[in-house]
Amino acid sequence: MTLKDHDQERQEIIRRLGQEEVRLHAKMHSLETERQRVHFELADLHRAQGRAAGPLPAGGVCPTCWINRGEEVQSTRDTHVCPKCGREELQDA
Ligand SMILES: [Zn+2]
Repeated sequence: MTLKDHDQERQEIIRRLGQEEVRLHAKMHSLETERQRVHFELADLHRAQGRAAGPLPAGGVCPTCWINRGEEVQSTRDTHVCPKCGREELQDA
């Protein structure tokens, strides 16, 4: 191998290392995004657990919508069915 060949080989290695660096940075970024998504999902779940353990809000709201999403959805008075999740409302308004 001549000195020039060695230099070319080194340039090629540097180029590949640069590509690998870009790939790993992108992967790290996507893992951080995923980690943050799971973090928020877990926080939502903990809030739902808290609502499930506590009393339901007064006024005949759908317990499923309340516990899962913290939404106070009134079931329709005539059918007693939640308009949002379709759950049949069992408690009296
Ligand atoms: Zn509902």
